[in-house]
Amino acid sequence: MNPRPRRLKLLRFLPNGWLATSGPAQGGRTLYLTFDDGPHPEFTPELLDLLAEHDAKASFFLIGREAERHSTLARRIAAEGHTLGNHSYSHPVFDSLTLAQQLEEIDRTERVLHGIDGRALHAFRPPRGVLTLPMLAKLASRRHRIDYWSYDSLDYSRRPVPELLETIQQHPLRTGDIVLMHDDSAHSLALLRELIPAWKAQGFMLRALPHLH
Ligand SMILES: [Zn+2]
Repeated sequence: MNPRPRRLKLLRFLPNGWLATSGPAQGGRTLYLTFDDGPHPEFTPELLDLLAEHDAKASFFLIGREAERHSTLARRIAAEGHTLGNHSYSHPVFDSLTLAQQLEEIDRTERVLHGIDGRALHAFRPPRGVLTLPMLAKLASRRHRIDYWSYDSLDYSRRPVPELLETIQQHPLRTGDIVLMHDDSAHSLALLRELIPAWKAQGFMLRALPHLH
């Protein structure tokens, strides 16, 4: 399995301010860890502790409904210097929705996230990476950036952690990579306990993707 999505070759033609497939160069080697599908009451606090231990920042693409349910936890994520992103309100299959329904999922989550970190707009990551042309056009017209990824940790595949680690070691990370992970299971935690020290030894800094405004 290759962690680099096949469609990346195509998506890289889009300007990064519209659809980001890499994070900004900040001098030195930088990785952008991203966590989808949280906040999760059991796994997210442990993940935040782990990141703090390593002085690492990341981006959390929250499901609006879960952020509403666990708003104290969502506040903690923002308060600890991580970026909040929009991962829809209920994580539906986006290409089975009308554009209006897609926008309602996005806008409803914006209202939830605004209540948490006070920001007007949060980068969007569609559930399962589903992109439709009308949505791409609409978000571009609103200057609402989509944060995609360049590297899939495959942490949701439920393959054993040693196997996932081997795949990741076979496909080394590059500076600016946006790494897709999830904080609704223990998988990413187990991976990161191994990977963060290794990445740090390779000179990588772990940073959050920039806010929209
Ligand atoms: Zn998701």
